Amino acid sequence: MSDDPRRDELARSLTAARDRVAAAEIAAARPAGSVTLLVVTKFFPAQDMLRLLDLGADEFGENREPEAGRKVAEVRAERPQAGFAVDMIGSVQRKKARTVARWARRVHSVDSPELADALAAGARRARDEGARTDRLGVLLQVSLDGDIHRGGVPEQGLDRLAGHVADLDDDLRLDGLMVIAPLDGDAEAHMAHMARIREGFVDHHPQATELSAGMSGDLEAAIAHGSTCVRVGTAIMGPRPITSP
Ligand SMILES: *Cc1c(COP(=O)(O)O)cnc(C)c1O
Repeated sequence: MSDDPRRDELARSLTAARDRVAAAEIAAARPAGSVTLLVVTKFFPAQDMLRLLDLGADEFGENREPEAGRKVAEVRAERPQAGFAVDMIGSVQRKKARTVARWARRVHSVDSPELADALAAGARRARDEGARTDRLGVLLQVSLDGDIHRGGVPEQGLDRLAGHVADLDDDLRLDGLMVIAPLDGDAEAHMAHMARIREGFVDHHPQATELSAGMSGDLEAAIAHGSTCVRVGTAIMGPRPITSP
């Protein structure tokens, strides 16, 4: 126990989430540590990210610019020695690509050639200005049900978009695929569908092995079907505060 109840709460929920990931790895006969736990800190303050860093979490997901960039800057200022990475998991407006490319290790939600172009230009500029040293990692967001409001490209569009990203490989690195499972239907069936799509994709893009799939409610199904990165918000942070859009 500490004198910070929020820290104690996060310590418990972080441990519980890690235990779930570890149990799912075992259930799927996958090596321990093969799945990354990305702690989704969106809507929660920099103070919580600092608490999580102190508890040993070092990979985070954020979904909205400019709040995310400001939060990352605040955390870096508070912990200049800490090594941690923040991924952009939410949809990116093209005009925000430049600032996102300054702080994101990876963008999980790339679903158009225009966005890829904007991110490549942003990554180049960020490197020219010394704000980053590496290429920007890219995951292509897959739409399993064709619902464009949730973002993503249908399976048929993936190879074409991957080819476009590959042409930008001075600035972008194609790491793999991402999915947000549709709300309706069975998570298990959605993740099995995703696994089949990924298998075909990796045949053509053998280096793009990452699969970002699974959230608080469906991480076990995602890990059973090959996820390499689960994005967990609510199960660690608690319910998100209501905010205006
Ligand atoms: C918010 C969010 C998550 C986390 O969802 P939870 O159900 O709270 O775990 C995962 N992925 C994306 C893209 C998100 O926007």
